[in-house]
Parts: sequence; C-alpha cells; structure tokens
Amino acid sequence: MLSWLFYGPEDIRLEEIPQPIIGEGEVLVKIKAAVTGGTDSKTYLRGHPRIIKTIPSAFGYEFAGEVTESNAVGFKTGDRVIAANTAPCYECFFCKKEEFQLCENLDFLNGSFAEYIKIPEQIAKHNLYTIPDSLDYKAAVMTQTLAVALQGFIKTEIQTGDVVAIYGLGAIGQCFIKLCKNYIDGVTVVAIGRSEQKLELAEANGADHCLRHCEPERRGNPDLKTRIKELGYTYGADKVIEAVGKVETWQAAMSLVRPGGTVNFFGGAPKGSKIELDSFQLHYQETKIIGSFHHQPKYIKEALDLIASGKIQMSDLISHEMKLEELEKTLEMMIAGEAMKVLITSSLRV
Ligand SMILES: [Zn+2]
Repeated sequence: MLSWLFYGPEDIRLEEIPQPIIGEGEVLVKIKAAVTGGTDSKTYLRGHPRIIKTIPSAFGYEFAGEVTESNAVGFKTGDRVIAANTAPCYECFFCKKEEFQLCENLDFLNGSFAEYIKIPEQIAKHNLYTIPDSLDYKAAVMTQTLAVALQGFIKTEIQTGDVVAIYGLGAIGQCFIKLCKNYIDGVTVVAIGRSEQKLELAEANGADHCLRHCEPERRGNPDLKTRIKELGYTYGADKVIEAVGKVETWQAAMSLVRPGGTVNFFGGAPKGSKIELDSFQLHYQETKIIGSFHHQPKYIKEALDLIASGKIQMSDLISHEMKLEELEKTLEMMIAGEAMKVLITSSLRV
C-alpha cells in the first residue's frame, strides 16, 4: 500500500509498504477520507515529541474509512468507521481521576496519510465508532477536530449571557464559535483574527463582532482591550479562548478578560514558553486560568452525535480537497496560511 512516512523536518516520503497485518482485537481500515490539521503542519516543520516516536514514522491522525478486516468485537468488514488517535488506559493515576486526556499511557496512532491503517486493540475497544448512515466520510472525518474544541468549550464553563472572546480563527477557533452559537443559547462572540477570509468565516459562523488584529502599536490603532471596551464590554470578556498558541497571543489574552473571568489557553505554545502574570489580576481580580489538551472518548462520541444531528456543521472548515499524492503541496499550503483543513481523498491510482 502507499503510505507517507515522516523522516525528519520537511522530509516526508510517499512509499510502497506492506499492508498492516492485524492481531488480536485489532481492525484494518481502508482510509476513505483524512484531513490535515495544525498539528500536521507543526509536525512536518519540526517533528513532534509525543506523536513521532520512531524514524521513519507513519504520519497523520484524522481519518474515516471502511473496515476491511476485523478481530474486534462490534466491528465487521464493510462497517464505516471513525477512530480517535488515542484511547486512555483506564488504569493510571489520571485515568482513575477521569482526566483521560492526561493518561500517562496515551499511544498516539499515526498513519492516516496512507491507503490502510491498523487500529490498535485499545482504540478499537474504546475509541472506534460506527459512522451513522446519514453522514458521509467527509462529514465524519471532522469529528476529532470538533471533539478537541468541545472539551475546551466544556472546560471553559461558558454560560448563557457570557461574552466570549475567541482569539485565533483557524479550524479550532471556528469550532469554538460554532459551539458558542449552537451548543447553548445567548452567548455573544467576539472573534479576533488576522486574515480577512477567516474573519468572514467567523461572521458566517455567527460571531457577533469580528475584530481584525493588526499590530496596533505600529499603526496607532487602539489595542484589542480598548476595542472590546468600545463594543460596550467595559470590564472585558467573561471568557477568553486563546486558539493561536503563541506567547504574544497568550499574553494579550490576559488583557481581554474581565475580573472574575476565565482565560483558556487552548493553543499549545512551544515547550518552555513563558508569559508574565500580574499577581493583582490573579488575586484581587480573581482571574481564572485554564488549559485544555487533546480529548476524551466521551467528547469524540458527543462530537460525532453533534455532527450527525446537524446541530454543528463542519464542512465549511474544509477549504480544499487533494489526493494522497499531493500531501507535501497540501502541507505547504497549510503553512502558508492558504488552507484551513484539507480533505485528503484516495490515491490517484484508485
Ligand atoms: Zn491512563
């Protein structure tokens, strides 16, 4: 079968490798749809400490497909499925506290940019789902993206009446907007981004205010905090979600939240990054800070239900469709900011 392999930063190669052989409890899936995500671009550029374990490594982690062979209870040949890229062990310290996303034994599944993928037993048992008949592969493949945002959304404890500032309007930022506008009622969204196209998408997804972030200090524009005040939110936003993952935006996010509000540092910055925190803001203003990483099986399940029910529509986040052979070009487009999520369909030879 054809499979992309990661050899090192900016060195991926499409190779012919043997089709995986499945063992006890495992499932073989023919990939029908895969999508690229921000993690793929980051991994392509600099590798990944947790996802890439060996060189060369299979690559890509979001996919939907058809079961071609199954040794797992509950799945048979012909089933249409989606899987998460991990499953918790249910035995470690964190799993016992039901903080499954922090499981010490998460084994990341790679290999969605290939013709077939083997689903390990633990994922087949706990994080593999049959796709409802109403959904095509293209819709189902977005489940994991929504699940990651859904966990962050739930952890932020957004309430009816809240003003939520969403900083960063990539696929995840757009998912947060969709959740704010469709998951509960009466939430006001202030969307903050740089690209005109992403701001337009934010508006289409229901953002109430769209602020273009444009380096105010250089151009003499008011800063974002002032602009949020000018919208009538004198004290700042009730909740701020940082979905960029840069030190500058983490720092800026702290200035947008009202006293007593919550900042969710959702975007992962490089390891070792530091920001300054004002003790006055944390103590006297009771600002809460949280983070959100990865997902739990219950959010994968709920995200699939949300998509299947039509409550959350994800297809607008797919900006392009490409063939398996075009992955390098696709990643370059992602890195250049020309693409949001790219759907990778079958190989040219199929
Ligand atoms: Zn565990």
